[in-house]
Amino acid sequence: MVVSAESETATKPHVAVVASPGMGHIVPLFELAKRLVTHHGLRVSFLNITTEASTAQTQLLHSPDLPSGLDVVDLPPVDLSTIVSEDALVLTRLCINVDESFRCLKSVLLKLGKPNAVVIDLFCTQALEVCEELSIPLYSFCTTSSAFLAFSLYLPTMDREIEGEYVDLPEAVQLPGCSRVRIEDLLDQVRDRKNDDYKWFLYHVSRLPKAAGILINTWEDLEPVALRAIRENPTYQEIPIPQIYPVGPLIKDTEPLTASVVDCLAWLDKQPTDSVIFIALGSGGTLSTQQLTEFAWGLERSRQRFLWVVRLPSDIACDSASFFGAGYEANGWKEYLPEGFLERTKEVGLVVSSWAPQVAVLSHPSTGAFVSHCGWNSSLESIMCGVPMIGWPLYSEQRMNATMLMEDVGVLTKPVVEPGQETIGRLEIERLMRTAIEGEKGKASRRKAKELKESARKALSTGGTSYESLSCLTKQWEAY
Ligand code: UDP
Repeated sequence: MVVSAESETATKPHVAVVASPGMGHIVPLFELAKRLVTHHGLRVSFLNITTEASTAQTQLLHSPDLPSGLDVVDLPPVDLSTIVSEDALVLTRLCINVDESFRCLKSVLLKLGKPNAVVIDLFCTQALEVCEELSIPLYSFCTTSSAFLAFSLYLPTMDREIEGEYVDLPEAVQLPGCSRVRIEDLLDQVRDRKNDDYKWFLYHVSRLPKAAGILINTWEDLEPVALRAIRENPTYQEIPIPQIYPVGPLIKDTEPLTASVVDCLAWLDKQPTDSVIFIALGSGGTLSTQQLTEFAWGLERSRQRFLWVVRLPSDIACDSASFFGAGYEANGWKEYLPEGFLERTKEVGLVVSSWAPQVAVLSHPSTGAFVSHCGWNSSLESIMCGVPMIGWPLYSEQRMNATMLMEDVGVLTKPVVEPGQETIGRLEIERLMRTAIEGEKGKASRRKAKELKESARKALSTGGTSYESLSCLTKQWEAY
């Protein structure tokens, strides 16, 4: 019998994947979607929330060379102007956007012919009821570390048992069976229990255990302790937690080939191996005007080579503008750098506005260290490219990630910050940059990063733990 390509596609198991706005969520869920198609023979519809989509998001999802079997389905845009105030916090804005965009979810899933399963990220749990009504199993993909998942799953218990603010607790929060979270490392969303971001965060993490399973962007050998705790510790068993599937590290494998990508790579080609410090603070990270100035001076004094993604300072552009505007080039950033900086450093440095092809830069042999805000995707990308990190956590769960990558994993160094100090001075930055490229500590972190790169590759290849985890899931989905 001759089976046409069309009917063969129609008989493949079909999964819908949907991510909340923000490159930190979209990148790993899109990678998961691609992997399900290319490595596991599934058909995937990626539902794209188009409202407030950043330039980077649109470029990524509408790239011309998507594998056949992966379709991007744009959800109709919604009007947030009358329901979200201009000064709403980032997570609140994001969650309301998802809420509104999901009004059409039921009809979209029906139109797609009821997929075998739906995969969401942490901030899309509004899909639970629709999936229940349509009898479609819903899985959540945790785009952060297992340590963070352990914290998230424990938060509803903390909310019930602890009175007052967590930031006023006398000591670190002990997660059952795993790490302690220092009060200063607590994520922004739980630092003030009265604000809307806390309520939204708690809402989603409380609903997480209702998923049919939780995929996570990590691998067994990177975080064995946290994974064991979530699976075996009695506190988590009592919740109870659905099956956990570590399927990572899933990172971007290609970058759209724009003119600025070509420029960055051509510049890197001219630099010696392991010599360049790459500085990029995620999709929305920005420094204050004062910190930007100190950073520039420290970098210049260190005389190290650098590729720096610069954005308007945080006191000039509002947080949500840079988060939702990832990839958008705002004018005027040059005037916040010290006078003559660009001219004086042009032999050793390249400054780009707003966005760089991060994975391509990290995988270039000239890149020797990465100043990162420690978003989980950036951390995984750095490890997958064997590049050690200098931690510059800014918001969300990044302080937790930085501590874990330094203390448990050994691929990160941090600046020395005096208690209460808001700006890190040029001398400390100069020291950090030199140590990262020339010092023994920097070299030890680089060795560790290269070891982990191998461990990650093993986990992802056929027969590896992450590959098998995803394989096991896809078999379940085929059976639905
Ligand atoms: N990114 C990039 N170029 C930039 C800044 C960020 O390609 O100049 C990508 C980066 O490779 C990563 C994502 O944006 O895939 C950021 O995700 P992460 O979880 O690190 O941080 P978030 O943006 O969520 O804070």
